[in-house]
Order: sequence, then structure tokens, then C-alpha cells
Amino acid sequence: MRFLFLFLLLSVGLRSFAQAPGSALFRHRNLEKAYEKGSRSNDGTPGPKYWQNRSIYNIEARLEPKSRRLHGVATIKYKNNSPDTLKNFIFKLAHDRYRKGSLRDFDVTPSDVTDDGVLITELKMNGTEVDLAKRRRGNTQLRLDLRTNPIVPGAETTFNVSWAYTLPAGEDAARECVCDSTTFFIPYWYPEVAVYDDVHGWAQTPYSGQQEFYHDFSDYDVTITVPRGFHVWATGEWQNPEEIMEPIYVERWKRAHTSDEVSSIFSLKELQRGGIYKAQAQHRYRFKATDVPDFAFASTNHYNWDAVSVQVDDQTKRRTFISAVYDTASTDYREVARIAADGIRLMSTWQPGYPFPYPVMTVFNGNDGMEYPMMCNDVSTKPNSAMGLTVHEISHTYFPFMMGINEQEYAWMDEGWAAFFDYLLTDSLSNHKLGGVRNFSAIAGSDVDVPLMVRSSNLSSAYRNSSYQRPSQAYFTLLDELGYETFNKCMKTYMDTWKGKHPIPYDFFYTWNRVSGQNLDWFWKPWFFEWSYPDLKLEPVAAKSGKKAQEIRVTRVGNLPVPVHVEVTYTDGSKQIFHERPSFWKNGATECRFTADKNKTIKSVKLGKTTIPDVTPKNNEF
Ligand SMILES: [Zn+2]
Repeated sequence: MRFLFLFLLLSVGLRSFAQAPGSALFRHRNLEKAYEKGSRSNDGTPGPKYWQNRSIYNIEARLEPKSRRLHGVATIKYKNNSPDTLKNFIFKLAHDRYRKGSLRDFDVTPSDVTDDGVLITELKMNGTEVDLAKRRRGNTQLRLDLRTNPIVPGAETTFNVSWAYTLPAGEDAARECVCDSTTFFIPYWYPEVAVYDDVHGWAQTPYSGQQEFYHDFSDYDVTITVPRGFHVWATGEWQNPEEIMEPIYVERWKRAHTSDEVSSIFSLKELQRGGIYKAQAQHRYRFKATDVPDFAFASTNHYNWDAVSVQVDDQTKRRTFISAVYDTASTDYREVARIAADGIRLMSTWQPGYPFPYPVMTVFNGNDGMEYPMMCNDVSTKPNSAMGLTVHEISHTYFPFMMGINEQEYAWMDEGWAAFFDYLLTDSLSNHKLGGVRNFSAIAGSDVDVPLMVRSSNLSSAYRNSSYQRPSQAYFTLLDELGYETFNKCMKTYMDTWKGKHPIPYDFFYTWNRVSGQNLDWFWKPWFFEWSYPDLKLEPVAAKSGKKAQEIRVTRVGNLPVPVHVEVTYTDGSKQIFHERPSFWKNGATECRFTADKNKTIKSVKLGKTTIPDVTPKNNEF
């Protein structure tokens, strides 16, 4: 009985600091209300009261290439599915990063800075112009004070917005470009409703250049008007090719939708010769997309267009239509449609092993390496292969798009995966010739290698390692621990459960614990919650020739659990691999021993491999 009393005390004591029952992971106190209200669950599934808000965008846009001016008129229907009354409202105006006085993580070209940023010429809520006194512009957000006119739970609200801005043309413009005087990659171009979620309320982190994005899932019906001879590629499916192109080119476009072979829809030579477009003073392109977090487009009058399609779901035979759109000088781009198709096939069937969710994917020859739903802005990598960049950006389709990750706060939940996928996919597609693992070892354990659970918006110099290096290595370690089959089962369930929703880190940890049937807290804690680094050491090997016992000892110096991978080469040229999973260290072991073949003489011993980080590689070889 005394024992029972002690046990009760301990249990109460344990629950008094923030954790889920049965979990050793610290849970941030400000997130507890989501669990108390039932919008999240302790098993990693969405709670019975999970909700998210939603918008439907109808947009008419017009691009004037000469002045770089973009004009838009939008009707936005917003549904408040939350149980909360919204007394304020936030629109994101990402392009206000170029407005005078806006917060910026990086310099922008001075000539791109304007007084207006995004010029709003009309803003109506349910048919009534929103009073200027009720609007606040700060950094990249437009806040509306709705205290006298709040949006109640369940309400559907209609906004009408008209706006214009000038596309930034300077060399510092990132993630978007005026790539040349008649080529444009255009994201961040419309007033987008900010996310209001069950965890943090309004997502209030402005877009200052470093942290990327967080969007709700929406439907888009967008028309974009450009002068004759300009083509438009965009998020969504193109609705009206027959209205714009001559039949022979429409036919090519249609054929590519069912062909496994890359073909040209049109080339620069054909553009120069003419006869592709109908006789119109301007073209009005229409695109529709459902359930996507954001919409981007690109336009040019002198790029080549290759296309192909690939089966992404072997059960339904569903295909994805893939385009590579590029300048003739970008010689690496001649392979991009093929790489994209092979990459998407591999993503659908191997890693992450989930059918590619989108009907369309366009890789556009821009100035960066940046993903948008169904669109990538990828710079030319010539003379190097475009493979790594192409598969990295396309793999973002899963995270953060299909899985609606808040990458402004948890960038490792998407960039870490893209970095993990780009290595595995590139390594596989190139027959192990290409593909690199990001160097975590060089930075691990330093004061900018912060615990991953520190929100991304709080990071500056630690941002990159925390988004790419450390998490991708954590995922390689997780794959080693679970093996492909269990890993893939966890991944599929995580995706089935959270696609089209907004998972947070705990949803990820709890889901993988549940589906793997293992309590992986011993892994999550050091990799995601603690200051820690990986360092294993190969102790001196007594390589006695002859038939005596040949013992190989690996000791643990660092506090991150990583796999033990030892390759022994014997004097007769043969090799032997010894491997222990990261869980070898979970109960505090400090040493791992292997016995080499007693009938052979050791020539050399190598500890580690590409996907296993180690801060002191020099003590890993004999
Ligand atoms: Zn990325």
C-alpha cells in the first residue's frame, strides 16, 4: 500500500510537468489547450474536434511585362470552421517585404523597394469597404480590426480585394524572379488569408526572407492575362488550351498526358517561326486547383517546353503530367523532364512510397531552388546535373504541401524530409554517382546546433542546420533503426492520417511511436529536444595475424544515438560488415564489440558511412 501511494505520488508528479500520458517527451505548455479541447490526440491522430479553416479564391490577374506591373482582382470566400469568434483577421501580403520599412532578413536591391509595397485599391468584407482606420499594415501582414464586426464560428465571409504591385527585378530577389526582361516566376502575388489554427491561433510570423511558409488548404480558380506570345504555367490544371494554342500544339500537349516518353510541346525555334498561338491581342489563361496550399505561376515568350507523364498510382492508373520549361542556354534542363518523371515515379513507389498527389508538376528555369504546389523555380545547374535540385524541390510536394506543415515554425518537418529524400532518390537514380548528404558533422554540438524543438521563427544563424542538416540525419538514423518496411508503414500512416491537415511535431512523434509499436522516445529526446552530437570512436585494433581473437571495439563519445557500422577489410581482399542499430545505445551502453574473422588477418577497419554523422571522423579508421 505504501508502494501504491508512492506510485500514485510519482504518477501525479510525472503528469505535473507537460507530457502526454506514457510519453517521456516534454510538451510545450502553450500547446496543452489543443489536447484539452480535443483538437489533437495523445496517439498522434487528429483529435475528435480537429478543425481547420478554408478559403476559395477566384482571381483575375493581369501581367504587364514591360512595366513589370501585376494587377489582380479577387473574390475570397472564407469559412470559419473554428469554435472561436475572430475579432481580427490577417491577410498575408508577402510582397510587402519590399515595402519601405519592412523587416528583412537579407538585403534587397534598393531599386526594388517601394513606398506602397502592395497597393490595395479595394477591400470589401461582405460587400462593405473595410474602413481604413480598421486596417493595420505591419511587415508583410494586413490586419483587420473586426471587434465591431467579428466572424462567428461557422460563418462564411466574402472578401473582395483589388491590388497591384511591381515585380522585383533586382539580383537580390529570391524565390521569385524577373529572370530576364520577358521571363517571370511569380509567387507571393495575391492577398492570402493567414492560417488560423488550433495550436497557435493566427500564424503571425511575417515573411522576412528566411523562414518559408504556412498556408491553409484552398481551392483556386485563376485567370491570368498576358500579351500575345507569352505563355503561362501555373499551379493547377490548365483549362483552356484550345482557346489559346493552334490545334497541332494542343494535340502535342494532350498526347504528352499519356506518354511515358519526353516530347517537345514547343521549342524556341517554333516560337520564333510563329503559328503556335491563335490571333489574339492577349491571351487569357485559366487554371483550377483544389485543396492546395498556395498558387504560383510563371510566364515567358521564349522558353522551350518539354513534357511527359508518369503513372503515380498503380491501383487507379492515375498519371501526373510533368513539364520542364527552360531557356535554350540551360543545357542541364534538357534532362529535367526525364529526371522529374523518374523521380516522381520513385517517390510514388519507394521514398516516401506514397502516390504523388498532384495531377501536374512544372519545373521552370528561374533563379533559385524553390518549391510551390505543382511549380518549382529552379535555377540552371549547368555544367552539373540538375538531378539533386529537381528531386529535392519536387519532393516538397509531400512536405510541406500535401502535409500542411507550418514551416515558419517547424522547418525540419519539411526541409529535413526533402534533404533526406533528395539524397536517397538521387543516389538511386544516378546509380550511386550523384547525391550528397548535407554535412551535419561539421556543425553538430556547436552553439548553433540548437535542439530542433526551438521554433524556426526564433532562429537566425541556426536556421539552416536546424532545418536541413540535423533533421535529415535524424531521419537517416530513424530509417536505420526501423528498417524500410516499418519505416514505410509509419510514413504511410502518418501521411494517410495528416494529409490535407496541419501536423505538429508531437503528431509526428506519437504517430511513429504508435505505428512502429515501439516507444522511440529514447531517439526523439536526444535528436529533437536536447543539445547533443554524434561521435563514435574506433579503439585501437590489435590486428594480430594468425588465428587469435580479433576484437573490434567502438566506444561512444557523443550523446546522440547513431548506428554502428564497421567495415573490415582483410589482407586477402575480402570484406566483412558489422552493424548495430542506433537502439544499441538506448540503455546507456558505452562500448560495442565485434569479433572479426579469426581465420583472417585484418588489413583495415573503417567505422561509419555517408549517412552516419560523426564529429571526429579521424578516430574512425584503422
Ligand atoms: Zn527544400
